[in-house]
Order: sequence, then C-alpha cells, then structure tokens
Amino acid sequence: MDEIITRLKKVRRGAMFIIEAPSGTGKSAVVKEILRCDPNIKFSVSVTTRKPREGEVDGKDYYFIDDAQYNEYLKQDAFYEYVDSQYGSRYGTLRSEVDSFINVGEDVLFDMDWAGARQMKAKAKDDVVTIYLLPPSIKELRSRLENRGTDSKETIEKRMNLTAEKLKHWNEFDYVLVNVNLEDTIKKVQRIISGERMKRVRQTGLQSFVDELLEEAKHD
Ligand code: 5GP
Repeated sequence: MDEIITRLKKVRRGAMFIIEAPSGTGKSAVVKEILRCDPNIKFSVSVTTRKPREGEVDGKDYYFIDDAQYNEYLKQDAFYEYVDSQYGSRYGTLRSEVDSFINVGEDVLFDMDWAGARQMKAKAKDDVVTIYLLPPSIKELRSRLENRGTDSKETIEKRMNLTAEKLKHWNEFDYVLVNVNLEDTIKKVQRIISGERMKRVRQTGLQSFVDELLEEAKHD
C-alpha cells in the first residue's frame, strides 16, 4: 500500500496556495501553522528590501536583500512576480523558488499581496489557488497590530492606511474566510488545501493508474 501512496504522490502536479490579508489579520500565524502541520507543502521565501523584524530569519521568513541585488534580479528577469513600491519596501518571488517544487508534485504556500496574487493567476491560472482572510473588525485589527509590538507607531499608521486599499481586492480571491478564531481558520484553510489536492486536473498521472486498474479488472 505504501508503494501505491508514494507513486500517487509523484504523479500529482503541485498547487500554489496564496494567502492574503490586511496586516494584523493573522495571516502569518495561519501560514506558520499550516507549514508546521503539513510536510507536503513548502513555503515560498520571498525577497524583500525591508529590514528584518525581531525574530525573523534570513532565508526562512524572507531573503533580506538590498536595492542593488533587487535591481539585479529585475534585470535578470528572475522574478515570477514582484511588487515594487506599494509598501515602501520592495518584494518579489523568485522563479527558482517555485518551479522546482510544482513540477515534482510539491505544493507551495505564498504569503503575498493581492497584486502578486493577480500576477500569479495571470501566469499560472490552473496551478494557483487564492485565499483571502478578512479581519473580524477594524478595531480588532488595530489592537492586534499594537499588541504585536513589532512595528513603530508610524509603521502601524501606514499599515492601517493600506487596509482599505487591500480590503477592496477581497473579491478577486477564490476562497474568503473571516478570521474570528485562529484555530478554526487554520482548520478551514487545511480543508481547502486537501480539497484542492484531490481535483482531477491536479492528479495528472492518474490516467496511467486507472489504465492499470482496467487492465487488472480484465483479468479479475
Ligand atoms: P510584511 O512587510 O508585513 O512582511 O509584508 C508586507 C506585504 O507584502 C504583505 O501584504 C505581504 O503579503 C506582501 N508580500 C510579501 N512577500 C511578497 C512577494 O513576494 N510578493 C508580493 N507581491 N507581495 C509580498
């Protein structure tokens, strides 16, 4: 039986799961827990020109790079998608980070904004699944950002000012959840991921498996 499970894994095409939410909604906590519980999904580490926050690790949370390196990546057309100025700092997804996984049936999880999600949908529509998390209220959002203690007052105001702009794009996403309770939200995202994995179009190698079943049925 184990042999069959391993074989079926190999014949699947990986999916790209993009999670977006206004800052403070709980997106990072959801992403972290999904990755901790599921070894079959890899995190796409983005590059950014912003400085690391306390506790962030280079190569794990982001590749922290400078403007010169970012410009070099742009010149080499190394990005799958990028967002250049929206947040003051620059962000991007390297092609090398994604393709090696999808082609061998590994899923990839992205923490990325709506502009990036739009670019990814345009480039790889059938492989991309997008999930939007809404906050239960704006008041709750502000208090989560303030209690997090990782951003200056000025940064918090900047993030709050971006909230309305971000919220307007909720209807471009495939799935939308209101994050009232973190545990429930995580479970719901896990269910979305398992459902998407079972879609016929993602199980690219199933035809040969079914052919074998049919052959076996002939001699049954
Ligand atoms: P933060 O600075 O709080 O980590 O991220 C700011 C925003 O940039 C978030 O909305 C985050 O999802 C988005 N972001 C992070 N990495 C990428 C990326 O590679 N591409 C795009 N388009 N957005 C990103």
